Amino acid sequence: MADRPHHAQRAPSTDAFDATALTKQFEQLILTKRFDNLQKQCRSRSRTSSPSPSQSSSSYPASPGRPSPCPSYQSSQRSSRLRSLPIVPMPPQDPASMKFRNLLHGLSVTPTKYENPGLLDEALTVIPLDRLYSEAEEECQIFQAQAASVGKKPEWGYQDCVIRALLKWFKRSFFTFVNNPPCSRCFMPTIAHGMAPPTPDETARGATRVELYRCSEPSCGAFERFPRYSDVWQLLQTRRGRVGEWANCFTMLCRALGSRVRWVWNSEDYVWTEVYSEHQKRWVHVDACEEAWDQPRLYTEGWGRKLAYCIAFSIDGATDVTRRYVRSPAKHGAHRTRAPEEVLLWVIYEIRKMRREKLSPSERRRLMKEDEREERELRAFTAAALAAEINALFPPRRSTRPDEQKTPVSREEAAAEWLRTRQSGGTGQSGPDRPGEGR
Ligand SMILES: [Zn+2]
Repeated sequence: MADRPHHAQRAPSTDAFDATALTKQFEQLILTKRFDNLQKQCRSRSRTSSPSPSQSSSSYPASPGRPSPCPSYQSSQRSSRLRSLPIVPMPPQDPASMKFRNLLHGLSVTPTKYENPGLLDEALTVIPLDRLYSEAEEECQIFQAQAASVGKKPEWGYQDCVIRALLKWFKRSFFTFVNNPPCSRCFMPTIAHGMAPPTPDETARGATRVELYRCSEPSCGAFERFPRYSDVWQLLQTRRGRVGEWANCFTMLCRALGSRVRWVWNSEDYVWTEVYSEHQKRWVHVDACEEAWDQPRLYTEGWGRKLAYCIAFSIDGATDVTRRYVRSPAKHGAHRTRAPEEVLLWVIYEIRKMRREKLSPSERRRLMKEDEREERELRAFTAAALAAEINALFPPRRSTRPDEQKTPVSREEAAAEWLRTRQSGGTGQSGPDRPGEGR
Protein backbone atom coordinates (compact mmCIF):
# COMPACT_ATOMS: atom_id res chain seq x y z
CA MET A 1 0.00 0.00 0.00
CA ALA A 2 1.19 3.47 -0.83
CA ASP A 3 0.67 4.76 2.66
CA ARG A 4 2.83 2.12 4.24
CA PRO A 5 6.26 2.90 2.92
CA HIS A 6 8.01 1.46 5.93
CA HIS A 7 6.26 -1.83 6.12
CA ALA A 8 8.92 -4.46 5.86
CA GLN A 9 8.15 -7.27 3.49
CA ARG A 10 8.82 -10.60 5.05
CA ALA A 11 11.41 -11.72 2.61
CA PRO A 12 12.45 -15.36 2.76
CA SER A 13 15.13 -15.10 5.36
CA THR A 14 18.42 -16.86 5.22
CA ASP A 15 19.08 -16.63 8.94
CA ALA A 16 17.35 -19.09 11.19
CA PHE A 17 17.25 -16.55 14.04
CA ASP A 18 13.71 -15.28 14.46
CA ALA A 19 13.74 -12.11 16.55
CA THR A 20 9.98 -11.73 16.32
CA ALA A 21 9.12 -15.03 17.94
CA LEU A 22 11.78 -14.51 20.56
CA THR A 23 10.43 -11.06 21.32
CA LYS A 24 6.97 -12.47 21.87
CA GLN A 25 8.35 -15.05 24.28
CA PHE A 26 10.27 -12.42 26.21
CA GLU A 27 7.29 -10.14 26.31
CA GLN A 28 5.12 -12.90 27.75
CA LEU A 29 7.80 -13.81 30.24
CA ILE A 30 8.13 -10.25 31.50
CA LEU A 31 4.39 -9.72 31.73
CA THR A 32 4.00 -12.94 33.69
CA LYS A 33 6.80 -11.95 36.02
CA ARG A 34 5.32 -8.51 36.63
CA PHE A 35 1.93 -10.01 37.23
CA ASP A 36 3.36 -12.42 39.82
CA ASN A 37 5.21 -9.59 41.54
CA LEU A 38 2.06 -7.57 41.72
CA GLN A 39 0.14 -10.42 43.31
CA LYS A 40 2.91 -10.84 45.87
CA GLN A 41 2.93 -7.12 46.64
CA CYS A 42 -0.76 -6.97 47.18
CA ARG A 43 -0.81 -10.11 49.30
CA SER A 44 1.92 -8.76 51.53
CA ARG A 45 0.26 -5.36 51.90
CA SER A 46 -3.18 -6.56 52.81
CA ARG A 47 -4.47 -9.96 53.78
CA THR A 48 -8.11 -9.10 53.84
CA SER A 49 -8.75 -6.68 51.02
CA SER A 50 -6.12 -7.38 48.42
CA PRO A 51 -7.48 -6.23 45.07
CA SER A 52 -7.81 -8.86 42.45
CA PRO A 53 -5.25 -8.30 39.71
CA SER A 54 -8.02 -8.84 37.21
CA GLN A 55 -9.59 -5.59 38.40
CA SER A 56 -8.10 -3.39 35.78
CA SER A 57 -7.26 0.21 36.48
CA SER A 58 -10.11 1.22 34.22
CA SER A 59 -12.77 -0.38 36.38
CA TYR A 60 -15.12 2.09 37.97
CA PRO A 61 -14.99 2.31 41.75
CA ALA A 62 -18.26 2.33 43.63
CA SER A 63 -17.15 5.27 45.70
CA PRO A 64 -14.11 7.46 45.15
CA GLY A 65 -14.29 8.36 48.83
CA ARG A 66 -13.50 4.82 49.87
CA PRO A 67 -10.12 4.67 51.57
CA SER A 68 -7.67 2.68 49.60
CA PRO A 69 -6.27 -0.49 51.14
CA CYS A 70 -2.62 -0.49 50.29
CA PRO A 71 -0.99 2.23 48.22
CA SER A 72 2.06 4.19 49.22
CA TYR A 73 4.24 6.78 47.57
CA GLN A 74 6.83 4.14 47.00
CA SER A 75 4.37 1.97 45.16
CA SER A 76 3.37 4.99 43.19
CA GLN A 77 6.91 5.43 41.99
CA ARG A 78 6.93 1.82 40.91
CA SER A 79 3.60 2.17 39.22
CA SER A 80 4.70 5.13 37.20
CA ARG A 81 7.42 2.97 35.76
CA LEU A 82 5.22 0.00 35.15
CA ARG A 83 2.26 1.70 33.60
CA SER A 84 0.71 -1.53 32.45
CA LEU A 85 -0.03 -2.65 35.99
CA PRO A 86 -3.34 -2.13 37.73
CA ILE A 87 -3.12 0.37 40.56
CA VAL A 88 -5.52 1.14 43.34
CA PRO A 89 -7.02 4.65 43.44
CA MET A 90 -6.24 6.77 46.49
CA PRO A 91 -7.74 10.12 47.50
CA PRO A 92 -5.39 13.13 47.54
CA GLN A 93 -3.90 13.76 50.97
CA ASP A 94 -1.04 16.20 50.58
CA PRO A 95 -1.20 19.83 49.32
CA ALA A 96 0.49 19.04 45.99
CA SER A 97 -2.02 16.28 45.24
CA MET A 98 -4.90 18.54 46.22
CA LYS A 99 -3.58 21.21 43.91
CA PHE A 100 -3.33 18.75 41.03
CA ARG A 101 -6.84 17.51 41.73
CA ASN A 102 -8.21 21.07 41.66
CA LEU A 103 -6.36 21.78 38.43
CA LEU A 104 -7.80 18.70 36.74
CA HIS A 105 -11.30 19.51 37.95
CA GLY A 106 -10.96 23.02 36.58
CA LEU A 107 -9.72 21.76 33.21
CA SER A 108 -12.45 19.13 33.01
CA VAL A 109 -15.08 21.84 32.63
CA THR A 110 -13.79 22.94 29.20
CA PRO A 111 -15.63 20.37 27.03
CA THR A 112 -18.86 20.77 29.01
CA LYS A 113 -19.10 24.30 27.61
CA TYR A 114 -19.64 22.87 24.13
CA GLU A 115 -22.91 21.25 25.14
CA ASN A 116 -24.95 24.31 24.36
CA PRO A 117 -27.45 24.03 21.47
CA GLY A 118 -27.36 27.78 20.84
CA LEU A 119 -23.57 27.73 20.58
CA LEU A 120 -23.50 24.70 18.29
CA ASP A 121 -26.16 26.24 16.02
CA GLU A 122 -24.13 29.42 15.84
CA ALA A 123 -21.04 27.35 15.03
CA LEU A 124 -22.84 25.62 12.17
CA THR A 125 -23.58 28.99 10.58
CA VAL A 126 -19.85 29.74 10.18
CA ILE A 127 -18.90 26.33 8.76
CA PRO A 128 -19.23 25.91 4.96
CA LEU A 129 -21.23 22.73 5.41
CA ASP A 130 -21.94 21.94 1.75
CA ARG A 131 -18.30 22.21 0.84
CA LEU A 132 -17.08 20.08 3.74
CA TYR A 133 -19.73 17.40 3.23
CA SER A 134 -18.97 17.05 -0.46
CA GLU A 135 -15.23 16.88 0.24
CA ALA A 136 -15.90 14.22 2.84
CA GLU A 137 -18.10 12.28 0.45
CA GLU A 138 -15.39 12.33 -2.16
CA GLU A 139 -12.64 11.23 0.20
CA CYS A 140 -14.86 8.56 1.70
CA GLN A 141 -15.38 7.10 -1.77
CA ILE A 142 -11.63 7.03 -2.31
CA PHE A 143 -11.15 5.10 0.94
CA GLN A 144 -13.89 2.70 -0.13
CA ALA A 145 -12.36 2.16 -3.55
CA GLN A 146 -8.91 1.60 -2.05
CA ALA A 147 -10.36 -0.88 0.41
CA ALA A 148 -12.36 -2.70 -2.25
CA SER A 149 -9.26 -3.18 -4.37
CA VAL A 150 -7.54 -5.09 -1.58
CA GLY A 151 -10.68 -6.69 -0.14
CA LYS A 152 -10.52 -4.90 3.20
CA LYS A 153 -12.61 -2.58 5.31
CA PRO A 154 -12.14 1.12 4.40
CA GLU A 155 -9.60 2.79 6.66
CA TRP A 156 -11.89 5.69 7.63
CA GLY A 157 -15.65 6.21 7.60
CA TYR A 158 -17.72 9.11 6.37
CA GLN A 159 -17.84 10.98 9.69
CA ASP A 160 -14.04 10.69 9.97
CA CYS A 161 -13.78 12.27 6.53
CA VAL A 162 -16.10 15.09 7.63
CA ILE A 163 -13.73 15.93 10.48
CA ARG A 164 -10.73 15.65 8.15
CA ALA A 165 -12.37 18.17 5.81
CA LEU A 166 -13.15 20.43 8.78
CA LEU A 167 -9.52 20.20 9.89
CA LYS A 168 -8.26 21.31 6.50
CA TRP A 169 -10.69 24.21 6.26
CA PHE A 170 -10.13 25.30 9.86
CA LYS A 171 -6.37 25.51 9.46
CA ARG A 172 -6.24 26.92 5.93
CA SER A 173 -9.21 29.27 5.84
CA PHE A 174 -10.82 29.90 9.20
CA PHE A 175 -8.41 30.40 12.07
CA THR A 176 -5.27 32.57 12.23
CA PHE A 177 -2.26 31.83 14.35
CA VAL A 178 -1.05 34.84 16.30
CA ASN A 179 2.33 35.21 17.91
CA ASN A 180 2.64 38.97 18.12
CA PRO A 181 -0.47 40.67 16.75
CA PRO A 182 0.39 43.28 14.07
CA CYS A 183 -0.16 46.95 14.90
CA SER A 184 -3.74 47.78 14.02
CA ARG A 185 -2.80 51.38 13.22
CA CYS A 186 0.13 50.90 10.81
CA PHE A 187 0.24 47.08 10.40
CA MET A 188 3.90 46.90 11.42
CA PRO A 189 5.14 44.08 13.68
CA THR A 190 4.85 44.59 17.43
CA ILE A 191 7.02 43.76 20.44
CA ALA A 192 5.77 42.10 23.63
CA HIS A 193 5.20 44.62 26.41
CA GLY A 194 3.94 42.53 29.30
CA MET A 195 0.41 41.97 30.50
CA ALA A 196 -2.48 44.33 31.08
CA PRO A 197 -5.64 43.96 33.16
CA PRO A 198 -8.68 43.17 31.00
CA THR A 199 -11.10 46.03 30.39
CA PRO A 200 -14.71 45.51 31.53
CA ASP A 201 -15.64 44.83 27.92
CA GLU A 202 -12.89 42.22 27.52
CA THR A 203 -13.89 40.60 30.82
CA ALA A 204 -17.50 40.50 29.72
CA ARG A 205 -16.38 38.69 26.59
CA GLY A 206 -14.51 36.07 28.59
CA ALA A 207 -10.90 37.26 28.53
CA THR A 208 -9.04 36.37 31.69
CA ARG A 209 -5.63 37.63 30.53
CA VAL A 210 -4.62 40.40 28.13
CA GLU A 211 -1.18 40.53 26.54
CA LEU A 212 0.18 43.93 25.64
CA TYR A 213 2.27 44.67 22.53
CA ARG A 214 3.91 47.83 21.27
CA CYS A 215 4.38 48.79 17.65
CA SER A 216 7.99 48.39 16.49
CA GLU A 217 7.75 51.49 14.28
CA PRO A 218 9.16 54.32 16.46
CA SER A 219 7.06 57.01 14.81
CA CYS A 220 3.91 55.01 15.65
CA GLY A 221 4.56 53.32 18.99
CA ALA A 222 0.90 52.40 19.42
CA PHE A 223 -0.10 49.73 21.92
CA GLU A 224 -1.89 46.63 20.76
CA ARG A 225 -3.95 44.49 23.11
CA PHE A 226 -4.26 40.74 22.67
CA PRO A 227 -7.00 39.39 24.94
CA ARG A 228 -6.73 35.62 25.45
CA TYR A 229 -10.27 34.36 25.16
CA SER A 230 -11.23 30.99 26.53
CA ASP A 231 -14.88 31.51 25.64
CA VAL A 232 -15.72 29.61 22.47
CA TRP A 233 -18.49 32.04 21.47
CA GLN A 234 -15.91 34.76 21.37
CA LEU A 235 -13.45 32.62 19.41
CA LEU A 236 -16.03 32.17 16.65
CA GLN A 237 -15.83 35.95 16.24
CA THR A 238 -12.11 36.65 16.75
CA ARG A 239 -10.93 33.52 14.87
CA ARG A 240 -7.38 33.94 16.04
CA GLY A 241 -5.06 32.88 18.82
CA ARG A 242 -2.46 30.36 19.79
CA VAL A 243 -2.71 26.68 20.48
CA GLY A 244 -5.17 27.15 23.34
CA GLU A 245 -7.67 29.08 21.21
CA TRP A 246 -7.12 26.75 18.24
CA ALA A 247 -7.77 23.56 20.16
CA ASN A 248 -10.72 24.99 22.05
CA CYS A 249 -12.52 26.34 19.00
CA PHE A 250 -11.70 23.38 16.76
CA THR A 251 -12.86 20.82 19.33
CA MET A 252 -16.16 22.68 19.66
CA LEU A 253 -16.63 22.73 15.86
CA CYS A 254 -16.07 18.95 15.73
CA ARG A 255 -18.81 18.66 18.33
CA ALA A 256 -21.06 20.91 16.24
CA LEU A 257 -20.57 18.52 13.33
CA GLY A 258 -21.84 15.68 15.49
CA SER A 259 -18.67 13.93 16.63
CA ARG A 260 -17.89 12.88 20.16
CA VAL A 261 -14.93 14.97 21.23
CA ARG A 262 -12.21 15.21 23.82
CA TRP A 263 -10.12 18.20 24.72
CA VAL A 264 -6.65 16.93 25.62
CA TRP A 265 -4.54 18.84 28.10
CA ASN A 266 -0.80 18.27 28.30
CA SER A 267 1.26 19.28 31.32
CA GLU A 268 3.98 20.73 29.06
CA ASP A 269 1.65 23.54 28.04
CA TYR A 270 0.04 22.14 24.95
CA VAL A 271 -3.49 21.13 24.03
CA TRP A 272 -5.14 19.24 21.20
CA THR A 273 -8.26 17.34 20.23
CA GLU A 274 -9.37 13.73 20.14
CA VAL A 275 -12.36 12.68 18.07
CA TYR A 276 -14.09 9.35 18.47
CA SER A 277 -14.09 7.36 15.26
CA GLU A 278 -17.21 5.19 15.23
CA HIS A 279 -15.72 3.50 12.20
CA GLN A 280 -12.51 2.43 13.95
CA LYS A 281 -14.06 2.30 17.42
CA ARG A 282 -11.29 4.33 19.00
CA TRP A 283 -10.25 7.87 19.88
CA VAL A 284 -8.25 9.58 17.16
CA HIS A 285 -5.65 12.29 17.76
CA VAL A 286 -6.34 15.55 15.89
CA ASP A 287 -4.15 18.67 16.10
CA ALA A 288 -5.72 21.68 14.40
CA CYS A 289 -2.55 23.82 14.56
CA GLU A 290 -0.56 21.20 12.71
CA GLU A 291 -3.42 19.91 10.57
CA ALA A 292 -2.40 16.54 11.99
CA TRP A 293 -4.78 13.60 11.90
CA ASP A 294 -4.03 10.44 13.85
CA GLN A 295 -0.37 11.21 14.52
CA PRO A 296 -0.13 10.70 18.28
CA ARG A 297 3.65 10.29 18.11
CA LEU A 298 4.07 13.77 16.62
CA TYR A 299 5.08 15.50 19.87
CA THR A 300 7.56 12.94 21.14
CA GLU A 301 9.08 11.22 18.12
CA GLY A 302 8.35 14.10 15.74
CA TRP A 303 9.34 17.08 17.87
CA GLY A 304 11.53 15.27 20.36
CA ARG A 305 9.56 16.51 23.35
CA LYS A 306 9.27 14.84 26.73
CA LEU A 307 5.73 14.69 28.09
CA ALA A 308 4.58 13.90 31.62
CA TYR A 309 0.78 13.99 31.54
CA CYS A 310 -1.73 13.96 28.68
CA ILE A 311 -5.25 13.97 30.13
CA ALA A 312 -8.29 13.83 27.86
CA PHE A 313 -11.51 15.49 29.03
CA SER A 314 -14.96 14.95 27.57
CA ILE A 315 -18.55 15.32 28.71
CA ASP A 316 -18.28 11.69 29.86
CA GLY A 317 -15.29 12.24 32.13
CA ALA A 318 -11.52 12.11 31.98
CA THR A 319 -8.89 9.62 30.85
CA ASP A 320 -5.12 9.51 31.21
CA VAL A 321 -4.11 9.03 27.58
CA THR A 322 -0.37 9.65 28.05
CA ARG A 323 0.55 6.18 26.79
CA ARG A 324 -0.99 7.01 23.41
CA TYR A 325 1.39 9.95 22.99
CA VAL A 326 4.45 8.68 24.86
CA ARG A 327 5.21 5.28 23.39
CA SER A 328 8.62 5.02 24.98
CA PRO A 329 8.44 6.38 28.55
CA ALA A 330 12.19 5.86 28.95
CA LYS A 331 12.94 8.11 26.00
CA HIS A 332 10.06 10.57 25.92
CA GLY A 333 8.38 10.44 29.32
CA ALA A 334 8.89 13.41 31.62
CA HIS A 335 8.73 12.75 35.38
CA ARG A 336 5.21 12.48 36.72
CA THR A 337 5.65 14.25 40.02
CA ARG A 338 2.43 16.19 40.49
CA ALA A 339 0.77 13.45 42.50
CA PRO A 340 1.10 9.71 43.13
CA GLU A 341 -0.35 7.62 40.30
CA GLU A 342 -3.00 6.28 42.69
CA VAL A 343 -4.22 9.83 43.29
CA LEU A 344 -4.39 10.66 39.61
CA LEU A 345 -6.49 7.57 39.03
CA TRP A 346 -8.74 8.52 41.94
CA VAL A 347 -9.30 12.01 40.50
CA ILE A 348 -10.03 10.58 37.06
CA TYR A 349 -12.65 8.26 38.57
CA GLU A 350 -14.04 11.16 40.53
CA ILE A 351 -14.48 13.25 37.38
CA ARG A 352 -16.01 10.32 35.50
CA LYS A 353 -18.42 9.66 38.31
CA MET A 354 -19.48 13.29 38.38
CA ARG A 355 -20.01 13.51 34.62
CA ARG A 356 -21.89 10.22 34.40
CA GLU A 357 -24.12 10.73 37.40
CA LYS A 358 -27.16 11.62 35.34
CA LEU A 359 -26.73 8.91 32.71
CA SER A 360 -28.83 5.78 32.59
CA PRO A 361 -27.25 2.56 33.94
CA SER A 362 -27.03 1.15 30.41
CA GLU A 363 -25.20 4.24 29.15
CA ARG A 364 -22.83 4.05 32.09
CA ARG A 365 -22.15 0.40 31.30
CA ARG A 366 -21.46 1.25 27.68
CA LEU A 367 -18.95 3.92 28.70
CA MET A 368 -17.29 1.52 31.13
CA LYS A 369 -16.86 -1.01 28.36
CA GLU A 370 -15.37 1.71 26.23
CA ASP A 371 -12.95 2.65 29.03
CA GLU A 372 -11.88 -0.97 29.26
CA ARG A 373 -11.36 -1.24 25.52
CA GLU A 374 -9.24 1.89 25.55
CA GLU A 375 -7.22 0.60 28.52
CA ARG A 376 -6.43 -2.50 26.46
CA GLU A 377 -5.41 -0.31 23.53
CA LEU A 378 -3.11 1.77 25.76
CA ARG A 379 -1.58 -1.33 27.32
CA ALA A 380 -0.85 -2.72 23.89
CA PHE A 381 1.29 0.38 23.24
CA THR A 382 3.27 -0.36 26.39
CA ALA A 383 3.70 -3.98 25.38
CA ALA A 384 4.85 -2.96 21.91
CA ALA A 385 7.38 -0.55 23.40
CA LEU A 386 8.66 -3.30 25.69
CA ALA A 387 8.99 -5.62 22.74
CA ALA A 388 10.89 -2.94 20.86
CA GLU A 389 13.28 -2.49 23.79
CA ILE A 390 13.93 -6.22 23.94
CA ASN A 391 14.44 -6.40 20.22
CA ALA A 392 16.94 -3.57 20.41
CA LEU A 393 19.14 -5.82 22.55
CA PHE A 394 19.79 -8.00 19.54
CA PRO A 395 22.14 -7.06 16.74
CA PRO A 396 20.16 -5.79 13.76
CA ARG A 397 19.94 -8.59 11.25
CA ARG A 398 16.88 -8.15 9.16
CA SER A 399 15.73 -4.72 10.09
CA THR A 400 16.56 -2.04 12.64
CA ARG A 401 13.00 -1.93 13.84
CA PRO A 402 10.79 -4.69 15.22
CA ASP A 403 7.86 -5.90 13.19
CA GLU A 404 5.52 -5.77 16.18
CA GLN A 405 5.84 -2.06 16.45
CA LYS A 406 6.08 -1.35 12.80
CA THR A 407 3.06 -3.10 11.44
CA PRO A 408 0.24 -1.29 13.24
CA VAL A 409 1.85 2.14 13.31
CA SER A 410 3.87 2.39 10.12
CA ARG A 411 1.79 5.31 8.93
CA GLU A 412 2.52 7.19 12.11
CA GLU A 413 6.20 6.39 11.85
CA ALA A 414 6.28 7.67 8.32
CA ALA A 415 4.54 10.83 9.47
CA ALA A 416 6.94 11.26 12.37
CA GLU A 417 9.90 10.89 10.06
CA TRP A 418 8.44 13.33 7.63
CA LEU A 419 8.00 15.79 10.47
CA ARG A 420 11.55 15.30 11.67
CA THR A 421 12.89 16.20 8.26
CA ARG A 422 10.57 19.17 8.05
CA GLN A 423 11.41 20.62 11.46
CA SER A 424 14.27 22.81 10.36
CA GLY A 425 12.36 24.16 7.38
CA GLY A 426 9.77 26.09 9.38
CA THR A 427 6.32 26.71 8.00
CA GLY A 428 5.34 29.71 10.05
CA GLN A 429 3.95 27.32 12.62
CA SER A 430 6.91 27.35 14.91
CA GLY A 431 4.94 29.35 17.43
CA PRO A 432 3.05 26.51 19.07
CA ASP A 433 6.24 24.50 19.45
CA ARG A 434 7.77 26.97 21.84
CA PRO A 435 7.29 25.95 25.41
CA GLY A 436 5.81 28.58 27.63
CA GLU A 437 3.85 30.37 24.99
CA GLY A 438 2.05 27.38 23.52
CA ARG A 439 -1.30 27.95 25.07
ZN1 LIG B 1 2.04 50.96 14.46
